[in-house]
Amino acid sequence: MIRKIAILTSGGDAPGMNAALRVCIRAGLYYGKEMYVIYDGFRGLVEGDIHQVNKDFTQDIINRGGTIIRSARLPEFKEPEVLKKAVDILTDFEIDALIGIGGDGTFRGLNDLAKMGFTCVGIPATIDNDVGSTDETIGFSTALNTICECIDKLKDTSSSHQRCSLVEVMGRHCGDLAMYAALAEGAEGVICVEHPLHEDKLFKKLRKMKAQNKNHAIIIVSENLLDINELAKKVEEETGFTARTEVLGRLQRGGSPTAHDRILAARLGSAAVDLLLNNEGNSKIVGMKNNAVVNYPIEEAVAMKHQPTHGLRDLIDMLQ
Ligand code: ATP
Repeated sequence: MIRKIAILTSGGDAPGMNAALRVCIRAGLYYGKEMYVIYDGFRGLVEGDIHQVNKDFTQDIINRGGTIIRSARLPEFKEPEVLKKAVDILTDFEIDALIGIGGDGTFRGLNDLAKMGFTCVGIPATIDNDVGSTDETIGFSTALNTICECIDKLKDTSSSHQRCSLVEVMGRHCGDLAMYAALAEGAEGVICVEHPLHEDKLFKKLRKMKAQNKNHAIIIVSENLLDINELAKKVEEETGFTARTEVLGRLQRGGSPTAHDRILAARLGSAAVDLLLNNEGNSKIVGMKNNAVVNYPIEEAVAMKHQPTHGLRDLIDMLQ
């Protein structure tokens, strides 16, 4: 029987991680379980930074960004001796199950623990929305709103100076932040893995806008795809627009989670605890599909590839 449950947050921090942590702790306590938190992700796990918590620990955290139990990256977590140490420590603390709140990498770490016989459940929380086993991740909605707030402000100055602004957003391998922001902002261009750059098409459009005296343009670019400053130079040479670049960077991670992310955290966090209590011994990842809470065996979940939202690309092309 599961008596003691530990929780960690891992990978890039995402708004709503605290809300998910809160729900897991409260749901576990509701069912009479002993609840523990692990500071600094898998690093804290192998260092034994594990502490029992009560309901007081969850006060006033539902609206806080970041993660109060902190996050860290530990690349060597895949090494067998490090994994063995983690299992030994969990055994020493008599922890029966672990909940990991994070992204794909975090789930791979949980999968490795599950293969060693330790029961784990994963909750998807990452601003990139790049997890295959869920339609949406905790943190995506907040990051998207932050991007939109920044671009709204940028538009004011961009139009005052008749500029083309190139805005770099996060999303290493998944263009959801870029595509959703482009749609929400009516951006003139978006460049991401799902919507690659076609220079000729983009420059032609900007030249046409310039000729029509349109006073500004917004181009949204996913990080790590191209040199945004080089592209800005080309825009100036090819279109007549003055171009400026803005890298939103880690600003996108911060802030109080949206109501949407808090509710998502509540649904996924409570489902994670339910799974542990009703499916003893089965390691799983929880997620949302078509607005219903689902779960997948962990090994299956880590092999799933995130699918772009159906029809989004065509909609963006039609509206640009
Ligand atoms: P985000 O995408 O938001 O950064 P993430 O969970 O994908 O979140 P990663 O840095 O990829 O972030 O992974 C978090 C941690 O998970 C790593 O620091 C490492 O400790 C562990 N991890 C990642 N990949 C593996 C793996 N293949 N095997 C074991 N552990 C892993």
